[in-house]
Amino acid sequence: MKAARLHSPGKITVDEIPTPIAGVSDIVIKVQAASICGTDRRIAANGHFKLQDGTPRVLGHEFAGEITEAGSEVVGYAVGDRVSVTPNVGCGRCANCLVGLNNMCPSYEAFGITMDGGFQEYVRIPGFAINRGNVFHLPGSVTYAEAALVEPLSCCYNAVSKLGVGPSTTVLIMGAGPIGACHVMLSKLYGAGKIIVSNNRQPRLDFAASVGADVLVNLTERDLATVVDEETGGRGIDVALTCVSKPEVQAQAVQLLATHGRVNFFAGLGKAQTVPLDTNRVHYQGLTLTGTTGSSNSDYAESLRLVGERRLDLSPLVSQTFTLDDIEKAMAYAGSGQGMKAMILFESN
Ligand SMILES: [Zn+2]
Ligand SMILES: [Zn+2]
Repeated sequence: MKAARLHSPGKITVDEIPTPIAGVSDIVIKVQAASICGTDRRIAANGHFKLQDGTPRVLGHEFAGEITEAGSEVVGYAVGDRVSVTPNVGCGRCANCLVGLNNMCPSYEAFGITMDGGFQEYVRIPGFAINRGNVFHLPGSVTYAEAALVEPLSCCYNAVSKLGVGPSTTVLIMGAGPIGACHVMLSKLYGAGKIIVSNNRQPRLDFAASVGADVLVNLTERDLATVVDEETGGRGIDVALTCVSKPEVQAQAVQLLATHGRVNFFAGLGKAQTVPLDTNRVHYQGLTLTGTTGSSNSDYAESLRLVGERRLDLSPLVSQTFTLDDIEKAMAYAGSGQGMKAMILFESN
């Protein structure tokens, strides 16, 4: 079978390798759709601390497909089932895993990092990942491509669901890539009073408008603080999400918050980057500063339910599809800032 493997930073090749075989407690999935994430691009360019040099690795942690083999001891999953997989498998025993935070487990395993991921025709899912709840049956209403996108959506759900968004909330989403768009959709679903989105590319802002943004701020033309002042009557932003990896964006988000405003620093920063913080503003305005990373299996289950009930439509997020052979083009497209999500679809689609 074909697998797109990362051999060393910067070097991905499509290799012919043996098709994986399920052990007694494993399943094998024929991958049908796999989307490309900024994390894949970062690992492809820089490697990962959990990834040993010289070990070829199949990237891809947003994928869905059909089970083609199930070991004799596997319960609840059978050949022909349509499934998706969450990438981070917790150890199941630590304090974080015990409260359901498998995404915060310090000794996690992950598809696309410590185990081969979705950029290949077939992927083996070991029994421990099945037993820790990382494999989800897909509702009939959800396509494979949409199912692949439930993973990034669930990371956004992890953030937005805890920020107290409601009808009187003004939400500011800084950054309008696929993640910003998911935050718009979720804020809309939570009934946000007004959704402001800032970005410096008009096509991305237009996409944000098509999924529910009320006010678009093209940063090449308008000053964000001025627009926020106008749109909130000088009160400021109730909920801000930063979806750009820039210290100055995080610093500005704090400055734009209203009394009792909340911010989620969604996009991480480079290791050496820090942000000067006006703690007097946090103190006297009663601000709440939060952050989230990844999603738990319960965030994922909720997100998949919302998509299955068609309360969210992820399909417009796919702006270009590729075959596995074109993985490099797909990665380049994902990093170009053009369009939204790059999706790899496999032949039988
Ligand atoms: Zn991702
Ligand atoms: Zn754990």
